[in-house]
Amino acid sequence: MNNEKNIQLLDEMPTGAKCIIVKVNGYGGLRHRLMEMGFVKGETVTVVKNAPLLDPVEYKVMAGHVSLRREEARKIQIVPIGQESSDDLGYNGMMEEEARKTFDRKSKEISVALVGNPNCGKTSFFNHATGLHEKVGNYSGVTVDMKVGEFHHGDYTINLIDLPGTYSITEYTPEEMYVREYITKQNPDIVLNIVDASNLERNLYLTTQLIDMNVRMVMALNMYDELINRGDKFDYQSMSEMFGFPIIPTTASKGKGIDQVLQTIIDVYENGHNLTRHIHVNYGRDIEEQIDKIKQTVIANGVLTSNAPSRSIAINLIEGNKTTTEEMATLPNGKEILDAAQKSRTELERRYNEDAGTIIVNARYAFIRGALKETFEPNPDTQKSEKPYSIDRILTHRWLGFPVMILFLWVMFQATFTLGEPLQNWIEQGIGWLGGVIGHAMPDGILKDLIVDGIIAGVGGVIVFLPNILILFMFISILEDTGYMARAAFIIDKLMHRIGLHGKSFIPFLIGFGCGVPAIMATRTLENKKDRILTIIGIPFMSCSARLPVYLLLVGAFFSHSQGLILLSIYLIGIVVAILTALLMKNTVFKNNSEHFVMELPPYRIPTLRNTLIHMWDKSVQYLKKMGTVILAASVIIWALGYFPRQSEQAEQIAMQIEQVESNESLSSEEKEVQIKTLNLQEMAAQSENSYIGRMGRFIAPVVEPLGFDWKMGVSLLTGMGAKEIVVSTMGVLYQADDNADENSTALIDKLKEQRWTSGPRIGQPVFTPLVAYVYMLFILLYFPCIAAITAIRREAGRGWMWFSVLYNTALAWIVCFAVYQIGMLL
Ligand code: GDP
Ligand code: MG
Repeated sequence: MNNEKNIQLLDEMPTGAKCIIVKVNGYGGLRHRLMEMGFVKGETVTVVKNAPLLDPVEYKVMAGHVSLRREEARKIQIVPIGQESSDDLGYNGMMEEEARKTFDRKSKEISVALVGNPNCGKTSFFNHATGLHEKVGNYSGVTVDMKVGEFHHGDYTINLIDLPGTYSITEYTPEEMYVREYITKQNPDIVLNIVDASNLERNLYLTTQLIDMNVRMVMALNMYDELINRGDKFDYQSMSEMFGFPIIPTTASKGKGIDQVLQTIIDVYENGHNLTRHIHVNYGRDIEEQIDKIKQTVIANGVLTSNAPSRSIAINLIEGNKTTTEEMATLPNGKEILDAAQKSRTELERRYNEDAGTIIVNARYAFIRGALKETFEPNPDTQKSEKPYSIDRILTHRWLGFPVMILFLWVMFQATFTLGEPLQNWIEQGIGWLGGVIGHAMPDGILKDLIVDGIIAGVGGVIVFLPNILILFMFISILEDTGYMARAAFIIDKLMHRIGLHGKSFIPFLIGFGCGVPAIMATRTLENKKDRILTIIGIPFMSCSARLPVYLLLVGAFFSHSQGLILLSIYLIGIVVAILTALLMKNTVFKNNSEHFVMELPPYRIPTLRNTLIHMWDKSVQYLKKMGTVILAASVIIWALGYFPRQSEQAEQIAMQIEQVESNESLSSEEKEVQIKTLNLQEMAAQSENSYIGRMGRFIAPVVEPLGFDWKMGVSLLTGMGAKEIVVSTMGVLYQADDNADENSTALIDKLKEQRWTSGPRIGQPVFTPLVAYVYMLFILLYFPCIAAITAIRREAGRGWMWFSVLYNTALAWIVCFAVYQIGMLL
């Protein structure tokens, strides 16, 4: 036990003292930090400056000077080395030798705290472990009882503490408070979590809290005999891989498994166990967002996080934990933190119509349910009568799950198309009307051309898709909130494992259908770097909502039926490409096995209108912001590149022809009008081919022509690198969709249908055929992720992966499109 007689802590050492580090206490994150600084077991530390009451304290370790806060130094146990300042090296050596001996003994003392629900078998374990031979002490405290026993196991001395049984450590009872205090303040070396295998769901709740506290943990799966007797199947090894700490089955009442537990404890203590890593209980997107916010305030305010990780402080505050709240209140900046916490609580409560504490509890059970779903199979004979019919049986059924999921996704995309169409038409008409009004009201000139052909055509071409995007996000949000998304991740998990990914990557992928940037950021929930990179590289192949306008335009123009199906096929191809890419990478760059994660299964709930609206609102704000900035600027630039230079020989010739027609007396005014109109169009075509953008287009034409694209499509791809919607605005500007607003509301679609090759082998033929349109969509799907996405990739995965993504995707797009187009032409 730490509070034993001659335990010495680093903060108690005066200036000039030398000592050997016995162990570093505290929760995982802090311990790692201290160890990284050089405070490692067996190392020698010299106190450089330690004035009483002064913070921080300065130390010399491993040839470097570091300063620690007193609170942190208190987490380091040491053995002092004698202080005789004499030249007699022999004497000094003796002192050191003696200290080493003490170190050897002390570093083999392990304090272990037994934590678990009442009646899970802690006392049985304690009695069997301590046996008859060693001393056992009963401590009857004012509020709680506990027993302490000391015994030897091999070279080690183990101090076992039988803490009171609790169902949770949220501190509603003195027992809970005591257990929490003991773990955070007394810092046992190892927490031995005893779990009753016959009631896993309830017992694991406490485990999730211990995980949040980031303690060094070993789990004894007790009452294992009962589990076997009932005929349940429990793959505890795989749960152990997911949880990141060892799990050992025991039958404490008969003393079975106790030696293995003790040996594992020693292994973990000596960092010799390969199954120890720290995981996070994932609380879901909305809660994690709030946890992050509070964490930032906690860290920014320099809160002493030496007793608990900032993440667990944040979770406690959301949960409304009294002690943590009171602790914060005593800090100088406590109010700021508590305000942030209160804001988060209110926000969550309003979104979910539920008390914040309950939301956290539910999220913990989601984690447990997910972990059990993957590892625990109750005996079907005993289970049938007890468990009522559950919707999960169908939704996560081995065979039924898939068709149901495809059905949901199909409905989602079909609805995006059909529900969006009327709204889209209204907006289109509105924009047409606006263009017309401005066109009539303004005098001819550059400014009018800029506004009508540049801004309104460019921005307008994209803004019409706002309803579709909102509908898509409404569906994604509803699927998330109902809890279905987690089930989908679950169904897909086994498949994902086969391609070297985890079911958890599914959520970032799905978010990728909305926008790649948040999706790439969402990969942070994956703890393994390999999983993260595989997912990040795959995300750009998920058709983000920015690509939707291009698809909607082309599908609407060139496919008269099965529109939903065509759209779905593009999305599916993206998924297939992501899978193949993952397989490829798994067999080349990343050959190691991936880690196991828990997939949370949140409760089914009716989505609140409020939360759905908030998500939709967030998206529309983002979308509109993009309109007002990137797309507006791009439209103006593209317009200018297409507008200038104004003079060219060809255009002048056509202008002369127009004059001739006008002055030709032999033509009727109707004939004149028809002729002038064609000439006008020719003039425009000549002008845009001669423009800067036309020159750029001609430059890249040889590259895109083998794919069936004309130079305008090529240019649209270039500009689309900024943001994929810009493809549509570029087409809007290049094909001059809105020059006659009163004509028809689907002007751009008609223009595309009218486009014909003006040169080359296909002269006179339409530029767009269903094949070309499809290949073009494929190219948009696969090539260069937009600027925002590659910026996110650089931030999350590094520059190398960013370049990989750029080059790989673009090369792949070209090869796939070339193959599809050439084969399509043959058929
Ligand atoms: P505590 O409340 O956590 O200290 O639990 P106890 O050690 O007092 O055990 C509660 C009851 O469970 C006792 O009747 C034990 O005999 C019984 N028990 C403990 N471990 C096992 C086990 O592994 N298998 C079975 N079948 N019973 C056990
Ligand atoms: Mg007991």
